[in-house]
Amino acid sequence: MTKKVLVLPGDGIGPEIIAEAVKVLNLANKKYNLGLELVDGELGGAAIDKHGVPLADSTLALAREVDAVLLGAVGGPKWDTIDKSIRPERGLLKIRSELGLFANLRPAILYPQLADASSLKPEVVSGLDILIVRELTGGIYFGTPRDTVILENGERKAFDTLPYSESEIRRIAKVGFDMARLRNQKLCSVDKANVLESSRLWREVVEEVAKDYPDVELSHMYVDNAAMQLVRAPKQFDVVVTDNLFGDILSDEASMLTGSIGMLPSASLDANNKGMYEPCHGSAPDIAGQGLANPLATILSVSMMLRYSFAQSQAAEAIEKAVSDVLDQGLRTGDIMSAGMRKVGTAEMGDAVVAAL
Ligand code: ATP
Ligand code: MG
Repeated sequence: MTKKVLVLPGDGIGPEIIAEAVKVLNLANKKYNLGLELVDGELGGAAIDKHGVPLADSTLALAREVDAVLLGAVGGPKWDTIDKSIRPERGLLKIRSELGLFANLRPAILYPQLADASSLKPEVVSGLDILIVRELTGGIYFGTPRDTVILENGERKAFDTLPYSESEIRRIAKVGFDMARLRNQKLCSVDKANVLESSRLWREVVEEVAKDYPDVELSHMYVDNAAMQLVRAPKQFDVVVTDNLFGDILSDEASMLTGSIGMLPSASLDANNKGMYEPCHGSAPDIAGQGLANPLATILSVSMMLRYSFAQSQAAEAIEKAVSDVLDQGLRTGDIMSAGMRKVGTAEMGDAVVAAL
C-alpha cells in the first residue's frame, strides 16, 4: 500500500531547503523501496498569498489524509503587518493542534566534525546527544482565558492561562519514557512544581507513569535549574520531557550548544506516530532566495520521518550517515563554516548528500 507524504515548503528559505530534502527523500524512496507518494501544499505566507489564509481547509484535509508531513518554515516580513488572526504562524499552530501533534521531539546533537562551532568548551559538549520531548498542543500557548483588558483605572492588564489535564500529561510522559527506553534508560522531567499548580500535577502524573517503566531512571528538575545545568554540564541529560513553554525555551537553548541551528531536525507526533517533520530553525528571511541556507536540518528531518512515521530505521540511518559523510568531506554552508573547509551553497550541499547516499 502506498503511503503519502504532504510536502509544505512554506516561506523564506523553506522552498530552497525542501527542494534538497525532497531529492534525498526521493532517492531513499527508490533505493529502499519505501512506496512513498509525495503531494504538495501550502502553509504560512505561501498559503496566504494563494488562499487568503495561512492554512486552507483543503490543505488541512490533505494533511489529515496523509501519513506524514514535511515542512520547510513559515513567516517573514512580507506578512508581518497583516491581521494577527491570519499571520503565517497561526497556520503552523493550527495544523499542529488540528492533527493532534502533541509530542515534539528535538534532538540536540553535536557532530564531532563541528565541535568548534559550539558556544561551550569542547570538554563540556563533545559527544553531546540529548533529546528534548516538548508537549506541543497544551499549556499556556493554548490555554484560555487569555486576553488584554482595561482596568477601571484605565491601566491595561493582560493574562494567559496554563492548564494541563492528567491525560495530556500522561501521554507526553509516556512518549518521554518510551524514548528513554529506546536510548539510555534515563529521563529527566522538567517543571516548576515549587511554584505552579500545573507543574505539581505534572510531577504527580509523571511519577504515576514511571511505575510502568521501572527500567527507566527518572529524575525531576525545576526549569530554572535545568536552564542552568544545560549550559553548565549538558551531558548529564539524555531524554528531557517538559511542557510547551519550558520546552520551547530549553530546546532553543540546547540547540545553541551544538552551535548550528542549521543542523537540527524536529518531529511532532500524534498518538499513532503520524508526524510533521521540520527543521528547528525559522524561515531565515535575511538569507532567503540566495542559495545560502543549510539544508541539513531538513534532510535530517526526513530521516526522523522515516524512523518514526514509517519505521524504516535502515533508510533513516543511511541518511544520517550520508550527512556525516559530507561533513567529513569538508563541505560547509555559511552557518557552519570554519577555517580550512570548503564553502558550498544549498543545492551543492543537497547534491553531496544525494551522492553520499
Ligand atoms: P522564527 O521566528 O521562525 O523561529 P527566527 O528569526 O527566530 O525565526 P531563524 O529564521 O531561524 O530565526 O533565523 C535565525 C538566524 O539563523 C538567521 O540569521 C538566519 O539566517 C540563520 N539561519 C536559520 N536557518 C538557517 C539555515 N538553514 N542555514 C543557514 N542559516 C540559517
Ligand atoms: Mg525563533
